[in-house]
Parts: sequence; C-alpha cells; structure tokens
Amino acid sequence: MSADLDRLEGQDQGARMPTFFVGHGSPMNAIETNAYTKMLTQLGQKIPRPKAILMISAHWMTKETVVLGDAKPKTIHDFYGFPKALFDVQYPAPGSPETVKLIQSSVTNPKVGTSIGSWGFDHGAWSVLRHLYPNADIPITQMSLNMSEHPEYHFNVGEQLSQLRDQGVLIIGSGNLVHNLAQINWDTGAKPYGWAVEFDEWLKRKLETRDFKALTHDFNKSEAGRLSIPTLEHYLPLLYILGASDANDDLQFEFEELHNASISMRTFGFGLRSHE
Ligand code: ZN
Repeated sequence: MSADLDRLEGQDQGARMPTFFVGHGSPMNAIETNAYTKMLTQLGQKIPRPKAILMISAHWMTKETVVLGDAKPKTIHDFYGFPKALFDVQYPAPGSPETVKLIQSSVTNPKVGTSIGSWGFDHGAWSVLRHLYPNADIPITQMSLNMSEHPEYHFNVGEQLSQLRDQGVLIIGSGNLVHNLAQINWDTGAKPYGWAVEFDEWLKRKLETRDFKALTHDFNKSEAGRLSIPTLEHYLPLLYILGASDANDDLQFEFEELHNASISMRTFGFGLRSHE
C-alpha cells in the first residue's frame, strides 16, 4: 500500500462515500439563493464530510485525461457577460496532491496526466461547491474531459475511479443532462420544450433501471436526445458517476426541474440514502 493511501486512510474509516451528479445551470446560481441552491446546501450537510473531493466538470475540456495538480488552485471565471459580483467570487479550497496520486494509481487505462498552472477550479466546479461546502476547507482536485474519446471511455474511467469512494473521496459530476443554449429562454421559469421534458424523463427511466448501456450509447438516437445534447461536454460527467456507482447503491433524485426551457437541473446521487 502506498504512503499516499496510508495518509488518506489514517483518518477515521467511514462507510463508502456516495457519489452524485449535479445539474449546474446558470453561473448566477453561484451567488443566488433559491430552491436549487438550498438543495445543494442541504446535500452538503447530510452526507459524511469527505476527506477530499474529485470534481468532474463540463467546463474542463482537453485532448487527454488530466487531473489538477496545483496545491492552491486558482478560481477561474470562465464566462463573460455576467455581473461583477460573479467575477469577484473566489473559492480558495486547497488542492489535493494526495488524491491526484491516488487517482493515478487507481486509473491505469488511460494513464492520467497532471496539469499544473494551466487550469483551476472552473465555474462548473465552484458554482456548485460554494453551496455544498461554503467554507472551502476540503481538498479538491478536478479531472478533465478528454473530448477526443468516445462515451464508453468516460464510463470506463468512472469504473476505475469507483474505488476512491472507499478512501473518503467524494466524486461529483457537474454538467446538465439537457443543455441547449441555442434554444434557451432567459426566463428561468419558462415552460420547458416538449423534447426537453421527453428526454429528461427518458433519462430518469434509464437511471432507475440502471440501463447504463442506453445512457452511454443511445442518448443521441432520438430527436429529443439530439436536441437535448447538441454537444457532449455537459452530458459526459454523468458517465463517470454511472461508472463509479454500484449495483446495490440506492438512487435518489434531489432536484428535478427544467429551467430556461432547455436546461435540465436534474441532480441525483448513488448511495445517499444510507447517510440520511
Ligand atoms: Zn455549464
């Protein structure tokens, strides 16, 4: 057993950590208080305090799989056209070199590289984390999305990450399962498109039956799916969470609204119930 593993295991031995997917939606959620952000706050309070967090965000796209190796990651404001208050947000959580090493020893195919100095916590990460863990005192690393790979690759990496749940690491996927910006309505409460409702319900059924084959291979085989996922980046974080889940994990839906007519805020977790 490696020294890094020892260090993580040196703390109290808890049950296997849950893992969850968060629909992050508008960056404005980072600084607002609403039903969605209250749900995140409660979610952070009901699960055991993780020793470290691995965040897989839609907003870090690369040509290989890398993890954030910075000891003090910077907060990246990777958007434009939003109020200054959003650009002022900092999320000064420490990095987690120990988790990086654990990931690199757990995921053997592909080989996972380290990124230092070129990325930080992006808004897909911190807009969610500042509600889950407002004190920013839990070490965090992020893993990038290798956009040159097929969906099954992402699921397979998630399977290899699953063992981190036994090491006190909370694995979070952050994206949106229906995400069509071309058809967005800037009114948050706008009536959702029929195709958005149809695909969001299809997803729910496939999650409930653990039909991960369909979720990995068939999501773009319907018109509703193609309209809901015009680009892959907000969908791919889901596949890591599916891969990291266990057949006997309970599935719990924490939030199930469609915002702005074309964005699913669906948020759910595996293994959450045992911690309530
Ligand atoms: Zn996003």
